[in-house]
Amino acid sequence: MTAPSRPWLEDADFAPPAAIERHQHACWQRQRRYLTEHSPFFRRLWGGRTPPPHLADLAALPCSTKVDLRASQTTAPPFGDYLAAAPETVVRVHRTSGTTGTPLNLALSARDAQQTAIIGARAQRASGLGPGHRVVHCLHYQLWMGGYTDHTTLEATGATVVPFGVGDTERLVRTILDLAITAISCTPSYPAVIEHVIGDRFPNLAPRDLGLRLGLFGGEAALDNPGFRERLEQTWGFAARNANYGVSDVLCNFAGQCDESADLHFVAPDVLYPELIEPESGTALPWRAGTVGELVLTHLERESQPLVRFRTGDIVLLTGLTRCACGRTTPRFRVRGRSDDMIVVRGLNVFPLQVAGVLTGFAALSGEFRIVLRGLGPYDRLPVQAEMASDQMPTAALARAIADEIQRQLGVGARVNLVPWRSLPRTAGKTAHVVREEDA
Ligand SMILES: [Zn+2]
Repeated sequence: MTAPSRPWLEDADFAPPAAIERHQHACWQRQRRYLTEHSPFFRRLWGGRTPPPHLADLAALPCSTKVDLRASQTTAPPFGDYLAAAPETVVRVHRTSGTTGTPLNLALSARDAQQTAIIGARAQRASGLGPGHRVVHCLHYQLWMGGYTDHTTLEATGATVVPFGVGDTERLVRTILDLAITAISCTPSYPAVIEHVIGDRFPNLAPRDLGLRLGLFGGEAALDNPGFRERLEQTWGFAARNANYGVSDVLCNFAGQCDESADLHFVAPDVLYPELIEPESGTALPWRAGTVGELVLTHLERESQPLVRFRTGDIVLLTGLTRCACGRTTPRFRVRGRSDDMIVVRGLNVFPLQVAGVLTGFAALSGEFRIVLRGLGPYDRLPVQAEMASDQMPTAALARAIADEIQRQLGVGARVNLVPWRSLPRTAGKTAHVVREEDA
C-alpha cells in the first residue's frame, strides 16, 4: 500500500462514508508501520505487539493518557519518546497551560502544521467563516495553540485575519470600525468586556453598530447554554458559534457548529479515528447516536507526536451519524464535560456544565457556582453553592425554585445554598466548579 500523497482528504467533512473508510484504512496502514518503527513510547505501551491492520480492531490496544505523555516528557525531555520524527523536523512548539499539572510540549512538523490548519479551517468554515470575511483574532498568542495556530486555521478558511491578541479593548473597537471587520474570534466571556468599554468610551455606539456578523468562540462551552447564546446574538446582532473544539495534545481544532444545528460537527475523519469508551472501565462503546462516553482519538496521519487511542478526558454525547442539513456527512456530538468532573447522583451522571445551564435561567444569580462534594459518595443529592448577582439577596424561595429546576432538567435532587455576590473565587481561564472536601 502506498502512502497517501496528502495528509488529508479534500473536503472530507462532505465525503461519502465509504470514501472516508477507504482513506482511513489506507492511512492507518502507513501510520501503524510508522509508529512501530519510530515510536519507542508505543512499542513499550503495546508490549511488542503490532497494531491491528483494521481500525475496527483497535480496541485490542491499550489506551494512552495524558499521565503517560507527561511521564514520557519527564524521562525524555522536552518532547517525550512519543516524538516519532527527528527533533530538527519540528517547526513549531506550543505548551499547554499546565493548569492541571506540568505543561506539555506540543511539537508540530511542517506537514503536521499544514494539516492542522486545513482541518481547523473546516471547523471554522462550518461555522460560516470564509473568503469575504474579515476576522479579528482576540486570543492571546503566548505559547498555547489557541493563539498562533488558531490564527493559521482562520487564515486557511480564506478569510482575512487581523491578529489582535488581548488587551487594549478601546483600540480593538476602533480597529473593528476602521477595517470594517465582520467577524471576531475570542473567548465567550470577552464580548461582555467589549460591551463595557463601548458603554464607557463610545457613548453613541451600541455593540450592534460594530457591524460584526459572526462571533467564533471556543474554550469553555458557554455556547452550549442557549440563554447565553441568545443574549449574545441579540446584543451583538451576530451569529454566535462554537467554531474551534479541539484537544491540544491531538489536534488544535476539529469540530465546529454549523448553521443548522447546535451540535458540533466532527470534521477530521480523514486524519483522526474516533472511539467512545466507558470512562470507569475503559470498555469500548458502540459508535451510534445516543451513546455517551469518553472520546478516544487515534492519529491516522501525524509525523511529530502521533498518538493512538488517546483518552481525551472529554465526555461526549454522539447526537447524529446521518447527513446534516448543511451537507456534512460526518458525526455530530455535544460535549457533556470532563471525565474528572463527572458526578454520579443516585446513578445519574451530572456535569457542572449542565448545572451552569440551569443556573443561567435565574437572573438573580451571578452565574458563579460550585459543587462541593464531601466524602467519596455515593451522593443522593447535588450540593450546589450558587452566588447571587450584585444587587440581589438570597431567599429560601429562590433556593427551592433552583433545586426544583435542577430536578426538572437534570433529574437529580439538589441542595442549593445561596451565597452573596463576590463570595466565590474567580480564576483566570477555566474555573474549577467541583470542589471535593476530604470528609463530612
Ligand atoms: Zn451541519
